[in-house]
Amino acid sequence: MKITDLQVIPFRVPYRPYRHGRLLDEAVRIQTLTCIQTDEGLEGYYLGGDNHGDLEGLLPDDRRTLEYNLKPMLLGQDPFDREKIWHWMWTRNIKENLLSVVDMVLWDLQARAYDLPLYKLLGGARDKVKAYASTYPAMASPEGYAAHALACKEQGYTHYKIHPYYFYDPVTGQPDRGRPSHIAEDIAACRAIREAVGDDMVLSFDVWGTYRTYEDAVKVGRELELLGYYWYEHPMPEYRVQAYVKLCQELTIPVLSPEIAAGSLYTRADWILRGASDMSRIDVLRGGITGVKKLAAICEAFGVRCEIHMSGFANLQCLGAISEDVSEYYERGLVAPEVDYDTPPPYLRAICDPMDDQGYVHLPQAPGMGYEFVWDYIWENRVADDD
Ligand SMILES: [Mg+2]
Repeated sequence: MKITDLQVIPFRVPYRPYRHGRLLDEAVRIQTLTCIQTDEGLEGYYLGGDNHGDLEGLLPDDRRTLEYNLKPMLLGQDPFDREKIWHWMWTRNIKENLLSVVDMVLWDLQARAYDLPLYKLLGGARDKVKAYASTYPAMASPEGYAAHALACKEQGYTHYKIHPYYFYDPVTGQPDRGRPSHIAEDIAACRAIREAVGDDMVLSFDVWGTYRTYEDAVKVGRELELLGYYWYEHPMPEYRVQAYVKLCQELTIPVLSPEIAAGSLYTRADWILRGASDMSRIDVLRGGITGVKKLAAICEAFGVRCEIHMSGFANLQCLGAISEDVSEYYERGLVAPEVDYDTPPPYLRAICDPMDDQGYVHLPQAPGMGYEFVWDYIWENRVADDD
């Protein structure tokens, strides 16, 4: 079997942006569907590929790179030779999100060829995964976070993760883009949440690299330890690896990082060896499904957790093929009180991650990633390539 075509189909999707605790007026964003075809009539797909994975389409420059740079490399190749193609793409220094998209389309294609959900092709480990509610940053006052955490607990979530006050000043109520630390307000929110939900809910905390100093990171980490938080995620910029080594030595709460550092499993293997984090982190846009699978094996060998970053079909398929002892949770979100998370977008018949009242999401059972496309919507809302 040979690859005969690669296309990126951009199309328009209305959505309600959510920022600084408010749902904004309806806007439009461009979603993309990347598709690879073969001479035997098989096809593989991946939806999205920009910062937020499944939900955000590839930008015009990325689409051009795929169609004019990567496509010629793929034409005529056996689509099942993913490992060879994955190494070719690293050798050519292809942008990580783009090599990841190609890798995922090829995995989807092979799982469709065998008529299996992807996690079964990878080697099924479980059909459902424990989820945590992952909040929008700067979502509410400390009391607002606490009320939301309690509502999530009542909905069935057993784990709640706070993205606190960053790129926003909780005192003035204004945007604040200069990577500021607002540690007094962050600590107030963490306390209010613990008080509201009691001791039997797992709580985690994710600063997304916005604390300005090592001292801020230590100070908040000590509070999280007192409050019995489970993990402390990405407190400082991830280029400061030695500061992370020191932080792990200083704190007892597990530090979870790197989440957005480039370099896929290679960077993360070095972090493990240096003791720069206690738990590792990756997602499918940092090396594709192949990258996640390899890092999970490295983590398993070292007895280090590999917590998967972000929501979405492909991350969930990976989790279905990794033991809970290695990757425990699925990041369900981002969520907030006014945000409708459960209605599928107009181009899909179902969301990937419906949750039961015990806090588990169940793996989609359709072949491949599990997408059930509304093809009419995609064709009717298709836009020009450079939109
Ligand atoms: Mg995070």
